Amino acid sequence: MFKLFKNDNNWSENLIKDAELLRLHRLLKEQIKENFSGHLRFYILDSGSCNGCELELQALFNPLYDVASLGIEVVYDSTNTDILLITGLMTENMYNEVKLTYEKLKEPKRVISIGDCPLMKAPFTNTFALKSQGINIFPVSQYIGGCPPEPKLLLRSLLKYLKNL
Ligand code: SF4
Repeated sequence: MFKLFKNDNNWSENLIKDAELLRLHRLLKEQIKENFSGHLRFYILDSGSCNGCELELQALFNPLYDVASLGIEVVYDSTNTDILLITGLMTENMYNEVKLTYEKLKEPKRVISIGDCPLMKAPFTNTFALKSQGINIFPVSQYIGGCPPEPKLLLRSLLKYLKNL
């Protein structure tokens, strides 16, 4: 829960982070500092989503969730990323791009699958556009389910993943 006071010019300063969000922020910051020297780079690849998952990922960068303050950045060069975040069903059109992107990742290759689509649990599983069943073409480090997964679930799951590195 958070409160947003309207009619206030300093509205972003009045977003109140709840206890869980504050705790997640503190622990994530520690993990990012320990494992990635304080700077964690995501590359986000849509393999055929409805964009619902992308909206939740974008929300992580709004003034409430504010993951940029934890050292998290989205990059646009897959060779320069720490973790590949992949959304969507594996469609025919995106198959080669996903495969190529995975091959270009530096070692250790880390992939987090976002949403129910890659798990083949989302609504669009019966479509001619699918290349294969889910993203079984390479190893996935962590699956985060949900349709879509909300920002706190993304943060909880990311923390769990980073703690196990
Ligand atoms: S998991 Fe749901 S919200 Fe995410 S891309 Fe698939 S259908 Fe859209």
